[in-house]
Amino acid sequence: MKQYYYYLLFAIVIYFLLFAKCNCDDNLFFFENFASKTKPKPKKKTYPCKYCGEIFESKIILNKHEKEECDIRPYKPKIEKLKSYGGDGGNDFTFTCPSQKTYDDDSIYINKITGKSGTEVDSIQVYCSNGSTSKKFGGDGGNEFDSGEIDDGLTYIEGRSGGRIDKLKVNDKEFGGNGGNEFNLSCTKGKIVGIYGKSGARLDKLGIVCDNNIE
Ligand SMILES: [Zn+2]
Repeated sequence: MKQYYYYLLFAIVIYFLLFAKCNCDDNLFFFENFASKTKPKPKKKTYPCKYCGEIFESKIILNKHEKEECDIRPYKPKIEKLKSYGGDGGNDFTFTCPSQKTYDDDSIYINKITGKSGTEVDSIQVYCSNGSTSKKFGGDGGNEFDSGEIDDGLTYIEGRSGGRIDKLKVNDKEFGGNGGNEFNLSCTKGKIVGIYGKSGARLDKLGIVCDNNIE
């Protein structure tokens, strides 16, 4: 007699397993429902660009896009600081134009140089294509000079130097005197985005900074 109770108990357990415990949304039986929950869903993994949101199906292609191709990825300048010419008098100065924010923005580079000169270069001031301007480095002697605006920017500055900067040649114009020896400061690639050097009452030393990522 006792074994019938076991059969009954067993039957109740089976009943609950099959029907009562099933929280089926679609009136599925337990096992069907179980199967539908464990079956892998055919969902493709996608990779969105963190800058523009474009969707890619491969992480390799996404990485290439984010590193090299995305127009609005943050711009990374490739800075090259060229050697300087002149002497060691005066105090250090340095100025670099701000960089463009993304690769989609306009490049920012030096597009005008002004200053004062006589037999030597007394002072220098540079202008960036985005409207930024450096301080005037040097003294107040000499006469004003102006390279005029260079639309495509500068890739080199020539001149003469000895203990100080004697002459600057910019945009086919010459400012200063004929002392010292010739020098040529040329970006390997790219454009001039900054200057550095030493100055006091005159321009003692001058070097340039290029961004070789600017075409
Ligand atoms: Zn993108």
